[in-house]
Amino acid sequence: MGQRFFLESSPAPDATTIDLGGQEAQHLIKVMRAKLGEVVELFDGTDMEWQAEITDIRRNAATLRLLSSEVISREPSIELTLGIALPKGDRQKWVIARLVELGVQCIVPLTTDYGVAQPVEKAIDRLRRQVIEASKQCGRNKLMEITAPQSFNQFIERAEGQRWIAHPLSAPGASEHQSASSLQSTTGQTCVAIGPEGGFSINEVQLAEAQDWQALDLGSRILRIETAALAIASLVLLGK
Ligand code: SAH
Repeated sequence: MGQRFFLESSPAPDATTIDLGGQEAQHLIKVMRAKLGEVVELFDGTDMEWQAEITDIRRNAATLRLLSSEVISREPSIELTLGIALPKGDRQKWVIARLVELGVQCIVPLTTDYGVAQPVEKAIDRLRRQVIEASKQCGRNKLMEITAPQSFNQFIERAEGQRWIAHPLSAPGASEHQSASSLQSTTGQTCVAIGPEGGFSINEVQLAEAQDWQALDLGSRILRIETAALAIASLVLLGK
């Protein structure tokens, strides 16, 4: 895999060249110190990938000649959506990048009874930048979606497919639990809700169970939000 750059807008079907601007051009010119004639890889957030040769370098933009294109999917066979009461700051950015690598399809930031405020639209735009950076590095061509924040209730009602709410056995509220191993046999569309440091409230867990969500226990130790998210994504997606 060569150096990868993200195209904010896709080339027209008959295009033979494409201009790179903005942050991606900065990366190509200032960070990579790319030279004329070098061949790099381009992707646009669909499953399309191009090989392209740098034909012109300006101060803040570059032109590339499109050499070939290919449809290459590096998506897992399972569409995993995680509803997460995201932690703050750098922890948030870190976990988003790792979830891109593991192949999560969609993140829904959750507002919950015991949670901290969820990122506003501007902060979500910055997280989307994180998604692009991680996709460049891991070779993923489709971008993981980060939706606008939803309330816990909205998420519980709207989510489709097989649905779990991660809630430790030691925390009150759930009537029965499934163990982590049940995640390994899920197929198709899968949703998991992950709570804040303060956990889900009894009300939230009962509401989810009433809507046919299964409470999921990940073992006798309490995991941080990031660890729970990565463990769940690994169980569901690795090897798929
Ligand atoms: N103090 C909280 C734990 C919060 S940990 C409580 O006792 O409920 C943050 C989130 O990670 C939890 O809401 C849950 O979704 C998930 N999590 C952490 N450890 C877990 C475990 N052992 N089993 C299931 N979910 C867990």
